[in-house]
Amino acid sequence: MSKKILIIGSGIAGISSSLKLKSFGFNTTIIDKGNFIGGRISTREVTIDRKLNFFYHGAQFFTAKTKDFKKIISTGIKNNYIKEFGNFTPKRYRGHRTMREFLLNLSNELQIQQKVKITQIKPLGNKINVLDDKGNDWEGYDGVISSIPAPQNYNLMKNFPSLKKTLKTGSYHACIALMFTFDKVPFDLKTHYDFNKKSGILGWMASGSNPNVWTAHTNEEYSDLNYCKDKNFLKEEIMFSIKLFFRSKIKFHSLHIWRYAKVKSKYSGLQIDPTYPVAIAGDFLQGPNIEDAFISGNKAAYLIFDRLK
Ligand SMILES: Cc1cc2nc3c(=O)[nH]c(=O)nc-3n(C[C@H](O)[C@H](O)[C@H](O)COP(=O)(O)OP(=O)(O)OC[C@H]3O[C@@H](n4cnc5c(N)ncnc54)[C@H](O)[C@@H]3O)c2cc1C
Repeated sequence: MSKKILIIGSGIAGISSSLKLKSFGFNTTIIDKGNFIGGRISTREVTIDRKLNFFYHGAQFFTAKTKDFKKIISTGIKNNYIKEFGNFTPKRYRGHRTMREFLLNLSNELQIQQKVKITQIKPLGNKINVLDDKGNDWEGYDGVISSIPAPQNYNLMKNFPSLKKTLKTGSYHACIALMFTFDKVPFDLKTHYDFNKKSGILGWMASGSNPNVWTAHTNEEYSDLNYCKDKNFLKEEIMFSIKLFFRSKIKFHSLHIWRYAKVKSKYSGLQIDPTYPVAIAGDFLQGPNIEDAFISGNKAAYLIFDRLK
C-alpha cells in the first residue's frame, strides 16, 4: 500500500515536497493554518469602488537558476499562469493573473486543507500522529514534513531534539508591507521601484493586478528595528515616505507585518530526524527566496522517500 505522508504548510516548500512525493507514488495531504494556499507568496483581494483588486504583499517575483524550477516556470508560461515580470537579467517572473494563481495551478492535483493549525507532532508505534488546535488527531501517517517558518516549527518539535537543534541555528529579517492605492495614478508611473540603494525606510515598491494597486516594503534595517511598533505609527511613517517620491494622495491603505519574512542567516543541521520519518523544509534551510524554498521541499521529499522506501 502506498505510504501516507502529512505535509504541514501550503507554501512553495510544502507544495514541492508534495509534488515530489506524489511522483514517487506516495499519498500526500497538505494542511495549513491560513485561509489561502501560498504562505508568503500571498495575494490580498480587496474590492475598491466595486472593482476587485489584488495586492501582492509578500513575495513580489521569482527567479530560476536550477533545471527543476526552470521547468516549473516554462510549464507555467506555456499554460498562461506565469508571466515574465519587468525586463531584468536574470529574468523575473510572477504568477498570472495573481501570485496565488501560480501556486493554485502548480498544486491542482494535490490534496490540500486550509484553516488547520498544527500544535504537536508525536510518534506512536511505527506511525506519526499530528494534533491540531481544535484537539483533532490526524492519525496514522507513515511520515511528516513540516515546512513552516523555523521559529514556529521549533515549537512543534518537542519529540524531535535533533530537528529542534537545527531550528535554532539561523535567523530571519522582518518586513513591513503597506498595501495602498493612489487617489489619482501619478503620471509616468513605472511597475516597480527598487529603493534599496537609496536612503530612507523603503526597500521596494511594486504594482499588483493593476497600475493603481501597490505594495511598499520597508527595508531590512527599518523592518527589523520597527516591526513591533504601533501599526498606525508605521502606516504614517511609510505613507510619509511614499509621498516624498510621488506627490499624489494615498486613498486605500492596509498594513501587514511579516515577522519572518526573508532568511537573514540560513539554518543548518539535520533535515530529517535520525529515528523517525519526520523532516523539515523551507527557505530557512536553503536561502531567502522562492526557488530555494522549492529546492528545500524537494530535498525533504527525497529524505522521507529514502527512509520509507
Ligand atoms: C514581504 C516579503 C517579500 C518577499 N519577496 C520575495 C521575492 O520578491 N522573491 C522571492 O523569491 N522571495 C521573496 N520572499 C521570500 C519568499 O516569499 C519565501 O522565501 C518563500 O515563499 C518561503 O516559502 P516556504 O514554503 O518556505 O514558507 P511559507 O511560505 O512561509 O509557508 C509556510 C506555511 O506554513 C503555514 N503554517 C505556519 N504555522 C502553521 C501551523 N502551526 N500549522 C499549519 N500551518 C502552518 C503558514 O500559514 C504558511 O502557509 C519574500 C518574503 C516576504 C515576506
